[in-house]
Amino acid sequence: MDRYAVIGHPIGHSQSPRIHTLFAQATGQALTYTAIEAPLDGFAATVDAFRAAGGRGVNVTLPFKVEACAYANDVSERARIAGAANALAFDGPRCRAENFDGIGLVRDITANLGQPIAGRRVLVLGAGGAARGALQPLLAAGPERLFVANRSADKAHELVQSFHALGLGRGVLAAGGWADLPATGAFEIVINATSASLTADALPLPAGVFARDGLAYDMVYGKGLTPFLRQAREAGVGHLADGVGMLVEQAAEAFAWWRGVRPDTRPVIDQLSVPLT
Ligand code: NDP
Repeated sequence: MDRYAVIGHPIGHSQSPRIHTLFAQATGQALTYTAIEAPLDGFAATVDAFRAAGGRGVNVTLPFKVEACAYANDVSERARIAGAANALAFDGPRCRAENFDGIGLVRDITANLGQPIAGRRVLVLGAGGAARGALQPLLAAGPERLFVANRSADKAHELVQSFHALGLGRGVLAAGGWADLPATGAFEIVINATSASLTADALPLPAGVFARDGLAYDMVYGKGLTPFLRQAREAGVGHLADGVGMLVEQAAEAFAWWRGVRPDTRPVIDQLSVPLT
């Protein structure tokens, strides 16, 4: 049986073995998928050992996504722009790297909206790894405007400047801090890519950033109604979503990349979802 795994530190919380096992059952693929905790200074050695034992591919999670990109010798454009990889595929001496987080986000937002992102105003809160990975797929979806706001405004500016330097997002992509939000107007899609919901922190958002008929999306999953989603609901936002769909959609992209068959994501999202109450 072909072997796959997710590598991170810590890894006990990972839903990836469950998701990929459900995909394998649904598509009739013969594979095993396990979780491996690598020592903080031992990512490359852990991947080497897994490859030597016949491993065909891995997902990579915190804190190794940047290191995974450096480990590979064949890096996709998407992973290069994100500066990080969340999936590796092994073929003899060749190691390909991909980043499916952003494409998973775009697929899930589109499913939640029931319409494409094209032509809409999108706000991304946060300028860490998750925000960086989301920007290129979001830009490719054709928003009218894509604004990145972060607690540390300089990090948002640096992130956006790095995209402009690559010739990406000019005239569409802009950045600022929380203090700039009252002047930006309303956004039909507001994405929380900060880790504030992990510690149940609220963000200092003016109610005016939320368009009432829009979507508020928290990348965190399994936490129910986070402070961010509560703020959005109180501002009258009609559609709320957490990041479970993004997680399952990126997994489906990796599965299809490895196996050549794309699993149906809806039943798996339904199994993993918790109520947003
Ligand atoms: P990083 O550590 O790289 O970045 C954290 C970001 O959150 C920074 O912009 C930081 O701002 C901001 N932040 C942290 N705490 C607060 C706070 N209390 N108030 C305001 N801003 C805050 O994390 P990642 O980008 O890797 O992850 C972000 C979130 O996305 C995590 O919750 C993670 O679980 C989720 N995620 C979900 C995925 C999914 O599949 N659903 C995939 C990947 C990530 P500053 O720069 O000012 O410090």
